[in-house]
Amino acid sequence: MEDLAKIFYLAATALFIFGVKDLAKVRTSRRGNGLAALGMLVAVVTTLVAPEGGIQLDWKWVAGGLILGSLLGALLARTIAMTGMPEMVALFNGFGGAASLLVALSVFAGEYLGGDASVPAALTQGLGVDGLGEGAALTWTVAVMLSVLIGAVTLTGSLVAMGKLSGKIPGRPLLLPARHLLTFALLGAAAWFAAQAGWSATHQEAQCALYTLAALAGILGIMVVLPIGGADMPVVVSLLNSYSGLAASMAGFVIGNSLLITAGALVGAAGLILTQLMCRAMNRSLLHVLVGGFGDGDGGGDTSGYENVKSAGPEEAAMVLEAAEKVIFIPGYGMAVAQAQHVVKQLAQELESRNVEIRYAIHPVAGRMPGHMNVLLAEADVPYEQLFEMERINGDFRDTDVAMVIGANDVVNPAAIEDSSSPIAGMPILHAFEARTVLMVKRSLSPGYAGIKNPLFERENCLMCFGDGKEFLAEVLAELKKN
Ligand code: NDP
Repeated sequence: MEDLAKIFYLAATALFIFGVKDLAKVRTSRRGNGLAALGMLVAVVTTLVAPEGGIQLDWKWVAGGLILGSLLGALLARTIAMTGMPEMVALFNGFGGAASLLVALSVFAGEYLGGDASVPAALTQGLGVDGLGEGAALTWTVAVMLSVLIGAVTLTGSLVAMGKLSGKIPGRPLLLPARHLLTFALLGAAAWFAAQAGWSATHQEAQCALYTLAALAGILGIMVVLPIGGADMPVVVSLLNSYSGLAASMAGFVIGNSLLITAGALVGAAGLILTQLMCRAMNRSLLHVLVGGFGDGDGGGDTSGYENVKSAGPEEAAMVLEAAEKVIFIPGYGMAVAQAQHVVKQLAQELESRNVEIRYAIHPVAGRMPGHMNVLLAEADVPYEQLFEMERINGDFRDTDVAMVIGANDVVNPAAIEDSSSPIAGMPILHAFEARTVLMVKRSLSPGYAGIKNPLFERENCLMCFGDGKEFLAEVLAELKKN
């Protein structure tokens, strides 16, 4: 039975790996999601039938959790608006951290590791450790403490990130005085209570220290995310995703489940890679992001006082497009808000029927989550071949007649490359400003997520097309169809 369980665990691990691989491409991402979900089902059923490390499981609780979780997940997936997706991802990360935290707390409560290193043999067997050596006991204790620490940081940090993304907590960085000192003091106190919890003489003292550790870690999570500005939230959410994986991996050590260790490590590594990619897309080091303070309005924050802004109505925009041979669409967050992806596709089709070359330029952090624009455009059946990543298309704007920017702002802001004092200085942007004409579709001169002025609006070649993305494009399409 044990050998069979190992084979099923191996199969589940393979499903996770192939699932993650498929998620890398829009075309295969649905299948990837399905494969990973199947892997998780195999893992849960195998754990139920043949639990590793001889742990006693009450199947009713597990089955109850499985059904409740599936129902809640399905309900959320069906009801959440596309624009609310980043908050949901943040919440799910928080749930992951909470799960690991609760597992560690409950196992510790039941299986107290006293000063005599009495970890249950069943647990250490799961880790492949024979008997009850001191090394195994230490590993187990450290795993419990890390699970509690990282789990609680992930939970509260994710809730703050969710609050910032949804606007319930102000997106600007909240900088407390001496916050770095406070963070280090909290970390120090957490380490002290972790040691107390691991090596207290009595069960009660150890429990008390462990709960204090959880509370301190929770405060730490809030303290770490609050000073980070809204514009850096995607990086934070991705990093918290990595933390949730690490916490799960630690929880795997705690209960002696090898699959949980592997699955957690996969999430941890994937989250870290995504974090790194996003940092690169914003040209910011992870340390710079974590130290916080970005987007507090210093330098370039003045969004008023635009001069010489030229605007164009739907009729004029249609005329510009009609005369073009090459058009690049640049979608941004506003396209998601307006749900303009379908009309963008229709407009593209109309132009293609007039032999206009159509491409879409996708900035890695356009919208409010990685892949946001890809998902929306895929929903509207835009051919994948027309989607170009920033590096592949940036050199082509110079040779483009019209760059039509639909609800994007920060990702086309030339201040990033021209103004070293700008808060987004150094962030790679789409070079829309190099096109012969830029049609900037948005409702007003309001700033984007970073809250800063966009000098592109004042450029000679830029025409502001004021209006809701969907309505404006529908009118442009109607104008084109008149001729
Ligand atoms: P921005 O947030 O810079 O700009 C969006 C623009 O859309 C606004 O200026 C707004 O202008 C316009 N808009 C809003 N509603 C509508 C509508 N109904 N119709 C037309 N326009 C509309 O978006 P970008 O995509 O350019 O940049 C993304 C920003 O978000 C970056 O700063 C990035 O760092 C950050 N971010 C990215 C995440 C990710 O993972 N992708 C996650 C979280 C943040 P107006 O009000 O005038 O209409």
